Amino acid sequence: MAYVCSQCHTRLEGQGEGGTEPPHRCTTCGAEAGLEKEKGVPPAMRYFGFVVAGAAVAALSGSIVSRLAG
Ligand SMILES: [Zn+2]
Repeated sequence: MAYVCSQCHTRLEGQGEGGTEPPHRCTTCGAEAGLEKEKGVPPAMRYFGFVVAGAAVAALSGSIVSRLAG
């Protein structure tokens, strides 16, 4: 389980057994509040998925166009 500081967006590993407990404070800015559970897919990975989906659509429409033209 990872946590993200809402102040400086530093990614922190959870503490305790299995890392299920939130860190006591941010190691970068020292904030004791605002440490939130990291949720879902990181934005960079979401962007990558969007690019892959766009490329797949482009390839698909390209093959349809060439089929119609040919
Ligand atoms: Zn911080």
